[in-house]
Formats: sequence, C-alpha cells, structure tokens
Amino acid sequence: MSMNPHQQAIKQLEKVAGLLRSEYHDEDTARFDAAIERLKEPDRVIEGQLEVEMDDGRSETFQAYRAQHNNARGPYKGGIRFHPDVSKEEVKALSTWMTWKCAVTGIPYGGGKGGVVVDPKKLSQNELQRLSRAYARLITPYIGPQVDIPAPDVNTTPQTMAWMVEEYQQEVGRQAKVVDSSHSAAENPLATFTGKPVTLGGSEGREEATGLGGVVVMEKLVEQLFPTKEKKQITVAIQGFGNVGYWFAYLAHQKGYSVVAISDSRGGIYAPQGLDPEYVLNYKKEHGSLPSDGVQEISNAELLELAVDLLVPSALEGVIDKENAHRIQAKAVIEMANGPTTSEADEVLAARNVFVVPDVLANAGGVSTSYFEWVQNLQGYSWPLQEVTTRLKKIMETAFTEMWQMHQKTGQTGRVSAYMTAVQRVVDAMIMRGQV
Ligand code: NAD
Repeated sequence: MSMNPHQQAIKQLEKVAGLLRSEYHDEDTARFDAAIERLKEPDRVIEGQLEVEMDDGRSETFQAYRAQHNNARGPYKGGIRFHPDVSKEEVKALSTWMTWKCAVTGIPYGGGKGGVVVDPKKLSQNELQRLSRAYARLITPYIGPQVDIPAPDVNTTPQTMAWMVEEYQQEVGRQAKVVDSSHSAAENPLATFTGKPVTLGGSEGREEATGLGGVVVMEKLVEQLFPTKEKKQITVAIQGFGNVGYWFAYLAHQKGYSVVAISDSRGGIYAPQGLDPEYVLNYKKEHGSLPSDGVQEISNAELLELAVDLLVPSALEGVIDKENAHRIQAKAVIEMANGPTTSEADEVLAARNVFVVPDVLANAGGVSTSYFEWVQNLQGYSWPLQEVTTRLKKIMETAFTEMWQMHQKTGQTGRVSAYMTAVQRVVDAMIMRGQV
C-alpha cells in the first residue's frame, strides 16, 4: 500500500535527519533526536464539524481541520484549502512542508495548514461565505497575529480571507463579551490573515509573487548550470497557465528567455522559436483556448518530455512519476507546483543528473509576500510595489544560494539540500529555546 502524505513527510524528515545528525555533538545529539521525534507530528491539530445553513434552509456539516506543525521560529503560517480530497493526514503533511518552506527562505514563521472537506463548486457564494465564517469561528481561539496566520490555498481566495477577517474580529469580541462585537477586542485582525484583497490590507505584488520568486530562482540556477549560454538560447517549457504558470512565463519571456511550450488543462502548444505569453493569455481570454496558429499542438504528457533546458511544472502534483521520469529530457526542473515530482521519480531524476529545484524553495515567493503583508499590517503601513519586489528578490536569491552551497558541500540533491538547511534551522531554534 502506498504511503499517505504524512507518512511521506516523516520519511523525508528521517532521511534528512540521518544526514544532519553528525553535525550535532555530545548532549546536543540527544536534543537533536528529541527534536526530530517531535517534528514528526504537528504540535496540534484542531478539528471540528462545521454546520452550515444551505440556501434552501437545510443544514449541512463539513469536516474541517487546522494543523499547527511547529512554531519554534515564529507563528504558524499556512493556507486553508476547500477540496473534497482534504484529509487529516494531508493537512498534517502540508503543515510540515510549510515549516520547511518558511525555514528555507529564512522568514520568521513556523508551519500550519487548514482544510475543509467540501466541493466548493457545488456551493453558492452565500453558502461559501457561511462556510468560511464557520471555519473562522472554529479556529478563532487558536489564531492571531503572533500565534497562527492563515492564508488562501486551493479554492480559497482574497474574498474568503475578507469574510474570515470579519468573522474572526466579531468572534473575538463575542468571546470577550465586548458590548459591540464589531468593535472587538481582536488585536490587529488584519495581521491575522494574509492574501487579503489590497483594499483590505493585502499587499501589492501578491498576485505575481510566486511566479516572480520562481523566475529569480531560475536566473540563479542558470548562472550555475549555463554560465556561457545567452538567455535567448535557454529554452523553457511550462506546464499550467494559471496564476503561477502565467506569471512565470510572462516574466521569463520579459527577461529574454525562450518560453517554447505552455499548457493548460486541455493540452499544450510548442513553438521552438518561442512564444509570447501575454499574447497567449489574451488569446485564451478571447477564445477560451490556447492559440493554434504557427504552433505545434502537444499533450501535457508530451510537454513534460520535450528536449528543453528547463521544465517548469506549475499545475498539478505527481505529474513527474516513475513512468515518465526516465524520459524527461530537461536539464533541470523548477517545481513551481506543490509536489509535482513523486519520490520514485525524484530518485530517477537524481540518478540521471537532472537538477530539481524543490517546491519548498521554488514557489516560496508567495509565502514570502504573505510575510511582507503581515509586516505591513503590523506597522499599519503599505509598501509600494517596488519595495515588495526588491525585498522578494533578496529573499529568493539568498534562499537559492544557501541551498546551492549545501548542495556543493554535501553532494546531495537540491531537495535534500534545501531540507537540510530548513530542518537544521528549526531544530536549532528548538534547542536554543530549550524545548528539547
Ligand atoms: P491556478 O488554478 O491559477 O492554475 C492552475 C493551472 O493548471 C491552470 O492553467 C489549469 O488549466 C492548469 N491545469 C489544470 N489541470 C491540468 C492538467 N491536468 N494538466 C496541465 N495543466 C492543468 O493555480 P495556481 O495558483 O497557478 O497554482 C498552481 C500550482 O502552484 C499548485 O500546485 C499550487 O499549489 C502551487 N502554488 C501556488 C501558489 C500561488 O501563489 N498561487 C503558491 C505556491 C504554490
């Protein structure tokens, strides 16, 4: 039987712990072991049944979770997803990966994740609002700007966060028995959620942040792998043309790289001479599909196996698996989607010297900009786009350089190197606090 996501997260942690253990001596070895044991399970999982009134007057219940994995480096941080496949084990795993993602980028957060088992496509806007508010009530006692800071994830949006901010603020007031709960006792409710609309304390630059962070990482990788190649000669294939895929494609093209393949859920297009992502987006908006003139139509499976320099999966998880890993011709993979490479495929790619920039690093531009949003909310200030962009570039460049140095020092893959940096930071914080 295959491992569930949380079992996979534990297996990864054990592997990395085995590589790091020799760095700890004397009493710290026992502390290291104790920290690793503790990191195998989240600090806390909040669960509950949300009772939501449907538009027709019936009431329905939805299973909900919030996992708080570790907060040694700062408040728990992570998104909330609405999806039928949400499970406790998945939420636990995702909260663990958030701990590593925040640690690898050096932002002062721990890891958390939330989820509701629901198919949001079957709910009206009013039902979604009531569901979001019910979720906010469930987690209110466990969140706050210095405690746990949720954000959007799969099928949740800035609008979802706006509803949750409002309900959280009212609920804190109700619980504190403040006479008018709209003027509640909640300390800085805006800093308790990120990914909010810009008019409600959201940050400039959040929309393009993940794609931009990925392109910054790509440029650093190119310096290492193709130091003498001109940008125009470097070919990039991108799977997925949503928020992440589009911005990655647009910014890579703008910088002069050759984006030769793009796809969405219906399939892909390939043009060896290069594509203009902005034209492709406008065409798709107008016609509902990718353009077919002057390009070769390809399947999503074919896109993954193109002879390009860089492959950028930006859609689904598990698309590079043990079936196709040995046919991947790209020299490097930049994981913009979460979990696009299975663990078996990872081993095949490593054996074939295909360098993989792991998701915890490549797509961390989003959470980094969430961090900036929180900082701005705490200060009651809003930064111009330029400031967000400059700071984001610095975080991503530093995180890449640290991962690369670890890779050079240990000879481990990009993924293991990033995990080694992250786990070491979290364990050290636990030891320094005297938690273990
Ligand atoms: P999105 O919903 O905006 O876009 C998803 C894209 O994937 C769409 O273009 C869709 O057509 C395409 N797609 C769907 N099914 C497909 C299939 N079978 N084959 C190929 N393409 C398919 O989502 P997004 O926000 O761009 O997120 C994409 C990935 O990036 C996800 O794994 C997400 O978890 C990850 N991610 C996103 C962010 C962010 O800030 N948005 C941050 C970190 C990680």
